[in-house]
Amino acid sequence: MSADNCIFCKIASGQLPAKKVYDDELCVAFHDLTPQAPTHILIIPRGHIDSLDTADSGQREVLGHLLLTAAEIARDRGFAEAGYRVVINTNSDGGQTVFHLHVHLLAGREFVFPPG
Ligand code: 5GP
Ligand code: ZN
Repeated sequence: MSADNCIFCKIASGQLPAKKVYDDELCVAFHDLTPQAPTHILIIPRGHIDSLDTADSGQREVLGHLLLTAAEIARDRGFAEAGYRVVINTNSDGGQTVFHLHVHLLAGREFVFPPG
């Protein structure tokens, strides 16, 4: 998947609407269209990366930033102490359906482990 026809690139640039909760120069966070928990937020890099599988060491800063942003959103929205789940589905067996790398931030219920 290239950046040309990528729905998350379009959300990042504002070409497609989304319920944004946070954005900065490196990333955008918005509510998932089909939430799997009372809170389900996606955090994406502004620049297109297909998946964790194709990320490289030149993207260390943005990859770290996605995780720190997830933790910041969790604290700001008041569910950090109760807890939350962070997920990066990768490729087919990992359940990835949108090939623009994204961090799922899920909260508001208990999660089982291992996931299905
Ligand atoms: P994946 O399965 O790739 O890990 O996660 C993709 C996620 O993107 C899914 O949870 C799906 O509900 C969400 N999603 C797909 N298309 C859209 C969209 O157009 N807008 C929003 N907000 N979420 C989307
Ligand atoms: Zn993209």
